[in-house]
Amino acid sequence: MDRKIGNRNYYYFSGVVHIHTTASDGTEGIEKIIATGKEVGLDFMMFADHMTLEHKENGHEGWHGKTLVVIGYEHNDAADKNHYLLFGSPRVYPASLTTREYVAAAAADRVLGILAHPDENRSRMGKYPPYPWTEWSVDGFQGMELWNQMSEWMEKLTPWNKVALAFSPRKSMVGPTERLLKIWDEINLKKRCVGLASVDAHAFPIKVGPLTVSIFPYKVHFKALRTHIILSEPLAEDFETAREQLFDAIRESRVFFSNMRWGAADDFEFYAVNDTGLVITGGTLGLDDRTRLLVKLPRRATLKIIADGQKVIETVADELEYTVTRKGIYRVEAWKKKRGWIFSNHIRIGV
Ligand SMILES: [Zn+2]
Ligand SMILES: [Zn+2]
Repeated sequence: MDRKIGNRNYYYFSGVVHIHTTASDGTEGIEKIIATGKEVGLDFMMFADHMTLEHKENGHEGWHGKTLVVIGYEHNDAADKNHYLLFGSPRVYPASLTTREYVAAAAADRVLGILAHPDENRSRMGKYPPYPWTEWSVDGFQGMELWNQMSEWMEKLTPWNKVALAFSPRKSMVGPTERLLKIWDEINLKKRCVGLASVDAHAFPIKVGPLTVSIFPYKVHFKALRTHIILSEPLAEDFETAREQLFDAIRESRVFFSNMRWGAADDFEFYAVNDTGLVITGGTLGLDDRTRLLVKLPRRATLKIIADGQKVIETVADELEYTVTRKGIYRVEAWKKKRGWIFSNHIRIGV
């Protein structure tokens, strides 16, 4: 979808990140999942099976109709922690590498590396241990999942609400945790680190009494957490070029993410403007005395602007103009009641 902001055209694309298939612990084959993605109208799908690039080797990467299919993989350490999504890697790195080593190997190959469910934190269901990121001193990653649908679902799971959560899985979704948002803001004060949403789709079957229910069938996942990218030109017909456009948008934080359960977010706008220019999410602009942030939502919601990790304004509106008076990194959150709806990346003002 294209739109005009200032006097420039931008192109919005929305897709899903972090999909598992039967090549690892997902429950459907890739062809079927791609067909579901096309049916739902995804602009891009980013697959990440555990420790395998089998589907890439078998030629599944490419344009499938209007859906761009990209195949990366999910690396983990020997203790099954520090899950790392790698997109564009030439190979699966050896399983014997430490986290520091596989992050460095990926950075050397200019791979797009995203921390998967970094703050996973659950203890209730002994059968499902958490797989958090623990190596925070390691550098060289480009981003992190701030909202992982599967992790959030599992974190809320108790033996008592299992039935309710299994039958209406999207109801359980709230948003990224305060804790993780804080970590993310702090990292961004030092360097750019993109935040995105992921589905971590497996479509696991679970036993609910006498029934076996697939929690989060792929189609339900694809209508929930979306990652949106913004480009200054349409995605290229040539697959390799289009894939680089997608990766560059992610690397440069030209990204926002949303829970589609509360409405399509395609009409979201967030940009900064002053006498020297205009930048969208991910951009950097100098500070002058006419610097403003402009936000537009598809419909009214609770809108917050966060500067350097601190909330500076909260209002219920579908539009907002905010005058910036100090340097910092600014981002937007939109909530429907107490449920997270749309989250932007940062715009840097004077930093
Ligand atoms: Zn994982
Ligand atoms: Zn995963």
